[in-house]
Amino acid sequence: MTNTHPGQDHRFDPATDLDSDILIIGSGMGGATFASALAESGVRIVMLEQGDFIADSPDNRDPDVVYGQMRFHSKLHWLDKNDQAFTPGNFEWVGGNTKFYGAVLYRFREADFGERRYEEGVSPAWPFGYSELQPWYEKAERLYKVRGQTGVDPSEPRGPYGYDYPPVPDEPAIADVRRRLERTGIKVSSLPLAVDIDAWTSRGKGPWDQYPDGSNTGKMDAESCALTIAVGNPGFKLIRNAEVQALELGKSSNRIESVTFTLGGETHQARAKLVVLAAGAVPSAALLLKSGLANTSDQVGRNFMNHVFSFLIAVNPFFSNTSSYQKTLSINHFYDEDNDTGKALGNMQLVGRLFPETLRFQEKNAPYWLLKWISRHGVDWFLQTEDIPKPDNRVVIKDGTTKLIWNRPHIPTHMAMVERAKKMFKTAGFPIQFHRLMGEDVPYHQCGTVRMGADPKTSVLNQNNVAWDHPNLMVVDASSFVSSAAVNPGLTVAALSLRAAEFAKTYLGEL
Ligand SMILES: Cc1cc2nc3c(=O)[nH]c(=O)nc-3n(C[C@H](O)[C@H](O)[C@H](O)COP(=O)(O)OP(=O)(O)OC[C@H]3O[C@@H](n4cnc5c(N)ncnc54)[C@H](O)[C@@H]3O)c2cc1C
Repeated sequence: MTNTHPGQDHRFDPATDLDSDILIIGSGMGGATFASALAESGVRIVMLEQGDFIADSPDNRDPDVVYGQMRFHSKLHWLDKNDQAFTPGNFEWVGGNTKFYGAVLYRFREADFGERRYEEGVSPAWPFGYSELQPWYEKAERLYKVRGQTGVDPSEPRGPYGYDYPPVPDEPAIADVRRRLERTGIKVSSLPLAVDIDAWTSRGKGPWDQYPDGSNTGKMDAESCALTIAVGNPGFKLIRNAEVQALELGKSSNRIESVTFTLGGETHQARAKLVVLAAGAVPSAALLLKSGLANTSDQVGRNFMNHVFSFLIAVNPFFSNTSSYQKTLSINHFYDEDNDTGKALGNMQLVGRLFPETLRFQEKNAPYWLLKWISRHGVDWFLQTEDIPKPDNRVVIKDGTTKLIWNRPHIPTHMAMVERAKKMFKTAGFPIQFHRLMGEDVPYHQCGTVRMGADPKTSVLNQNNVAWDHPNLMVVDASSFVSSAAVNPGLTVAALSLRAAEFAKTYLGEL
């Protein structure tokens, strides 16, 4: 067991750490990527992260520990729309949710930046088009060492586009699934993945989706890729186990003057020229609402999105799934338009292999022999449809607790996708299917709650991620999204964050 973490020797020193150029709240995809982009600038950066490092341990790959004991899961309690308490399916550690992510790093598609009309509502246009983010996507892919393949996916944005590394190889059983699907005319592409498969498998077989990499070797995440660079800045300090409670204004100014946080039972106030909020879409909105900030537009917390997603296991009794990680295939054949329904349906991708040891925690009432049979003959898919921003889907604070109100508007389109997928898998030789719509307690792809825009009346942030109301506040996490698209959000968080950091380099001088 080794422990190598960037910033593991950093210790809080109140004499030096309560005053900095930039104070970043959160060490996940948005926060760590932002800090990495400023590593060579030498500016004094303090990063407050409520979580700790995940130790390198064989436990990290043990389904009993990860799913049974839920050792790494959130310790938070939120309220749902009916005021029922629930534990969100999220993670609070150094590196944020990327420690547990599936490492699928997709660019949003070109059409995702424009308006898309669905029968259930409108997915609005961003204040800029795909071409504005294109160079930042490229930089983000390089930072997270994304592996992939271009030229196959029909939804792929136009070039220049290419990966520095070849795609993670299909295991033999999955190569067979790819062939079966392709024979039916479906375009199957390789997932863009931030995983060094040799490094990952050298420490044991099995999937990385939902399993953390405490060694920082196989999985490219916010800690292993971005924080590792950020700590190269002698002016950078990571303060772990520091939970931000509120942001405060100066008495006669609209600038954020201080940030209150707790650490080891003590309360501190930190100051900085620029405060960068990157606590994740729901927590960032909750912090702003609790602090009564940035909300002249009344948009803080609104427009919550998360994708509508399902699991679908496609079974062929004569097929044997011998894969160990499984997660290499993606289908965007129906992303922009499905010939059958005429709808933009979304993305289908393999999840990390679901072994019976894992399934038993999800299907508690099913006999183990059945789970073994399903796992042996089934292939495990994740189906995701774009969510639509609605003002009433929102984060609010009730009696000091975060309440998440989410009524999924896009279920009919999602169910059309499920039906389309079932038909497709049947044609490809997988006639038995088990489908489960995921619950509202797993905001894995949360976004949109502090959205950017061109109009201060309808958005919280300007196009550079600066709060309209407070010139020294930037928000660089998934909350800034205007729409959710129907592919995974992480790379877009990283691209926006790199772009915002570039802006901050000169903006800091103006503050
Ligand atoms: C199981 C799972 C699988 C996923 N798979 C994928 C995938 O394959 N591809 C993909 O693109 N996306 C995936 N995602 C989503 C992806 O992880 C998120 O979109 C991304 O991490 C969001 O970045 P962020 O900066 O907004 O927030 P986060 O990465 O969550 O970072 C927020 C950080 O802020 C910290 N924080 C919060 N509140 C406070 C506070 N008050 N004080 C101090 N610190 C605070 C948190 O502890 C956390 O470290 C997955 C998510 C989950 C949960």
